[in-house]
Amino acid sequence: MRILIVEDDPALADGLLRSLEQLGYAVDCAGNGEQANTMLKDAVYDLAILDLGLPKLDGTEVLRRLRQRGGRTPVLILTARDAVEDRVQGLDLGADDYLTKPFNLVELEARVRALIRRGQLGSNASLNCGRLVFDPSGRRASCGDVPLELSSRELGVLEVLMLRQGKVVNKEQIMEALCNWDEDLGDNAIEVYIHRLRKKLESSGTRIRTIRGLGYLLETNEN
Ligand code: CA
Repeated sequence: MRILIVEDDPALADGLLRSLEQLGYAVDCAGNGEQANTMLKDAVYDLAILDLGLPKLDGTEVLRRLRQRGGRTPVLILTARDAVEDRVQGLDLGADDYLTKPFNLVELEARVRALIRRGQLGSNASLNCGRLVFDPSGRRASCGDVPLELSSRELGVLEVLMLRQGKVVNKEQIMEALCNWDEDLGDNAIEVYIHRLRKKLESSGTRIRTIRGLGYLLETNEN
């Protein structure tokens, strides 16, 4: 899952970046509105966290342009405590939620999970494939009632495969979901994650098939 943070306060942006990366999200940052506008045009994000007071292009203008292009990326706006009009304008322009500064990181993380879940799955909470269950909001997977011990990257790969189960997922799609622009994982790293996941899914009644030259396919063993 890929998140864009748009914030011109470097300390705040850095704090957000660290805490979201720890949760296993791929995170990019933009320090001004113009840069954010370009990045939202060029890449697909699962969520944008948008400060409103920004240099070059105001946050409300970034949001207006995103929605005008038909962009459906969920947007969480950050506003000053007293800026009620900004908040109302933001929601009118198509923001999905807001937080007032200063905010608690735990609360931000909860909002982020809720917005991503809503964006990806509508109201449906978990993904299933045979006995394998993935809970995107809690960032965990289990086989029946038994929790699987997966790293955040392994969870990321599994999430992509489960969202597109029954379809072939190529390495670029996995990379896009796992990495921000500063990272380059490479084909080998993806192969390593797939290899580890296969081992951990051995008793789950599912398997990850390699479709030579195309990618990977998650399916149940009953097929
Ligand atoms: Ca600002």
